[in-house]
Amino acid sequence: MTLTTYLLPLLYGITSFFSSTFRSPGATALVNPGGAESRLYKPDRVFDGETVHDGWVVLVKGATIEAVGPAASVRSEGADVIDLKGTTLLPGLIEGHSHLLLHPYNETTWDDQVLKEPRSYRVARATIHARNTLLAGFTTVRDLGTEGADYDDVGLKQAIDQGVIPGPRMIVATRALIATGSYAPKGFSPDVDVPQGAEEADGHDKLIQAVRRQIGKGADLIKVYADYRWGLMSEARPTFTLDELKLIVEVARSSGRPTVAHATTVEGMRRAILAGCETIEHGDGGTPEIFALMKDRGTALCPTVAAGDATSQYRGWKKGIDPEPERIRNKRITFKQALDAGVKICFGGDVGVFTHGDNARELEMMVDYGMKPLEALRSATSVNAGVFHLADRGRIQAGLLADLMVAEGDPTKTIGAIRKVRLVVKNGQIIKL
Ligand SMILES: [Zn+2]
Repeated sequence: MTLTTYLLPLLYGITSFFSSTFRSPGATALVNPGGAESRLYKPDRVFDGETVHDGWVVLVKGATIEAVGPAASVRSEGADVIDLKGTTLLPGLIEGHSHLLLHPYNETTWDDQVLKEPRSYRVARATIHARNTLLAGFTTVRDLGTEGADYDDVGLKQAIDQGVIPGPRMIVATRALIATGSYAPKGFSPDVDVPQGAEEADGHDKLIQAVRRQIGKGADLIKVYADYRWGLMSEARPTFTLDELKLIVEVARSSGRPTVAHATTVEGMRRAILAGCETIEHGDGGTPEIFALMKDRGTALCPTVAAGDATSQYRGWKKGIDPEPERIRNKRITFKQALDAGVKICFGGDVGVFTHGDNARELEMMVDYGMKPLEALRSATSVNAGVFHLADRGRIQAGLLADLMVAEGDPTKTIGAIRKVRLVVKNGQIIKL
C-alpha cells in the first residue's frame, strides 16, 4: 500500500470527524439535517454483539442504526454504500476499566504521576489517550478513577461530548473512595501527610457526604477500594467494613448510580459482593466459593488480566523467556475458576497501566487465559453494555446508537484481527477510514 492510499482515507476520516462534530454543543447526537446522512455498510460479516452473520449489511441513518440483516432484506435507496470487503463489522467496543488520566508505569511510576505531574500535563496527555482509544475502535470507556487528578475526568468527558476533542463516550467515577490510610502513594515517614490517589472517607456521615459530593460533581458511578495493600506489611487486606460498603452502595443507588469495587482478596471480594457492588475489579485472589457467590448474586468480574501481565513485566519478568511468575500462574487459575463458575466476565484491562489504544491486549489475554474469541468479544460489547446499564449500545440492532468498528479479517475466529481497524464510527460519524 502506498503512503497516499493509506493517508488519504485517514485524512478523510479526520476531516469528516471535525466537520461533523464542531456543531453546537449537545446538538450533534440526534440531528440529521436533510436526512441525507444515510450509509450502508457492507462487510463480509456482522458480529451483532452475540453471534456472527455472514453476508449481513448495516444501514445507518444519522446517529442511529436504521436496519440490519441480509443484504436483500435491507432497503437502502439513496444511501452511500461503504464497501468493506474482507472485514467484520462489530459494535463499537466498550472498554470496562480505563484510567485515561494515567500513562504506563514503565514511562513514569504511578507515584510520580500522582505526586509530580501537573494536572494540566495529565489532562493534556489524557486528550491524546482519548483519541487513541477511539481510533482503536473503543467508542465507550468506563473510566474508573482519576488517580489524584480530582474531577478532571468530568471535563474530559464534556470536551468529548461537545466535540471539542475526539474520544470515546465516557462513564466516569471521578475520585473513587478509599478508607483512610489504605491507599497510596505510601512509604513516607508517618509524620508526613502525602496527597492520595483517591478520596479518603470513613464512617456514616463522611461516607454519605463523599458519595453525594462525587455524584454532584459528575460521577456516573462510585468506585470503592474494598481492599488494598496497606500498613508496613504491604499485604492486601480489607479496608471498609461491610456496613460501610452497604452504606456507600445504598447512597449511590438511591441516586440511580451503581457502585463498583476494587477487590483482590477473598474477604474484600466477599464484602463487596454482599454489599451490592455490581462489578469486582481484578479479583485475583478469588476462590471457587467466592465465584459461586458472585454467580449467585449476579456480580460481574472485570479481571484486568493485562494489567497484572504488564506490571509483572515492568518488574523485570521477560515474557516468553522467563517462566511465568507466581502471580500470573495464579491469575490463570482464578480466571478459569470464574469461567467455570459461570460468572459474568466484563472486558476491562485497567488500560493506563499499559498504553491507551492498546486496549485489545486484554482481549488477546482473555483468549490466552481460556475464553473463546467470540466470548471475549461478547464481553467487550453486549455483556459490558448490559452490566453497565447501557441499553443504547453494545449491539448491532435497529434503533441503537450507530457506534461501530470494522476490523480486517475475522476477529471472532482470530482475536488479534481486532487490532487491524479499517473503520470506526461513533454516533453515525466516520472517525477513520
Ligand atoms: Zn484501575
